[in-house]
Amino acid sequence: MLDVNIKVENAKPQTNLYSLTFDDLKEFCLSIGEKPYRATQIMKWLYHKGVRSIDEMTDVSKKTREKLKEITTLSLPEVVLDHLSEDGTRKWLIRLDSGNSIEMVYIPEDDRGTLCVSSQVGCALDCSFCATGKQGFNRNLAVEEIVGQLMIAKLLLNDFEEIDNFTPRKVTNVVFMGMGEPLLNYRNVVSAMKIMLDDYGFGLSKRRVTLSTSGVVPALYRLKEDIDVALAISLHAPYNTLRDELVPINQKYPINELLDACRNYIDGTNKKITWEYVLLRGVNDRDEDAHALARLIRNIPGKVNLIPFNPFDGVDYQTSDRKQIDHFRSILMGYGLVAVTRKTRGDDVDAACGQLAGRVKDRTKRTISQEGVGQEVDQTKLTQETLMTELA
Ligand code: SAH
Ligand code: SF4
Repeated sequence: MLDVNIKVENAKPQTNLYSLTFDDLKEFCLSIGEKPYRATQIMKWLYHKGVRSIDEMTDVSKKTREKLKEITTLSLPEVVLDHLSEDGTRKWLIRLDSGNSIEMVYIPEDDRGTLCVSSQVGCALDCSFCATGKQGFNRNLAVEEIVGQLMIAKLLLNDFEEIDNFTPRKVTNVVFMGMGEPLLNYRNVVSAMKIMLDDYGFGLSKRRVTLSTSGVVPALYRLKEDIDVALAISLHAPYNTLRDELVPINQKYPINELLDACRNYIDGTNKKITWEYVLLRGVNDRDEDAHALARLIRNIPGKVNLIPFNPFDGVDYQTSDRKQIDHFRSILMGYGLVAVTRKTRGDDVDAACGQLAGRVKDRTKRTISQEGVGQEVDQTKLTQETLMTELA
């Protein structure tokens, strides 16, 4: 009898502790005959101290640690490239267990440090100006792969060090502006954000975790029920005709439906929407586009983030002239809108957040299912050599 039990136990795959929210971990502790307070202890070791082994969790009894070592893992994806730009922007190429790779960027500024994370390998939405979209969709990231990105960054930046109350952490902000559409990997992204916000987790402020979406309207309504984070909307065009072309999901969820979902998300809060607008020369950067944009959004609390287009091979768009970007911005400001132009950072390695080159070759086009999450598609395995050549 005992034998059989042991076999069943051993046959179970190990649980990656980075995949569990605080609630999940409490449940997990109960399921292995531990008191829920163990979850608090474990979370603190994982996310406050950044320990990388169960043995370091010294306030957990030896017996429990032995049990945890058998049935859990703390594995993280592997960093295959680590590149520091002259302006301090740091970019990592991370290889996942499946052989796929994702990119992640850290942008230090005077008063904050922003980590730009990915939520999917590739993206199914195929926005016409986006390198990630050109790859097609490959797969959703697991919770531990999203949380793992923040863990990796904090470990490599030495951000678990004890500090006094006046020293800011190195990673203060997380933005889901890397590869992928976060709302099409809904469950995993929400769980990962819960771990980021939890006081026993990374303890980030809800105003400093930003989800950027191209507008998966039903998921935006659901998000309001599930978690309170900052929202960035990739608008890019003030008219449906143009947005249908640039952001094809607009054909399914047009601008008025998207704006209703945005109003609903911030209704009853003092939140503001960040409107992302990639400026494409002669396409969406004309004076009349600025006027139409301003009229469209001026009654919704928010600010506009103008993003100079980051060109890549095989795409015809051009970056707007500096003068036109400034003029576009001043038109918006004339309507009383707050508008900033995003600095292009880490240009020497294509590192700027939201402009990840997505050099991974495993591209397969697929259509979006209703829920958007989906069936397995071709996963071309990449060797480290291929990636190095690609990035060289
Ligand atoms: N899928 C989400 C989040 C990832 S993209 C979204 O679309 O919002 C993050 C931001 O980078 C988006 O605003 C996107 O439009 C922008 N972006 C994509 N390709 C770009 C490029 N070539 N140059 C500048 N910004 C780009
Ligand atoms: Fe996907 Fe965002 Fe790129 Fe569009 S801009 S293809 S939604 S990653």
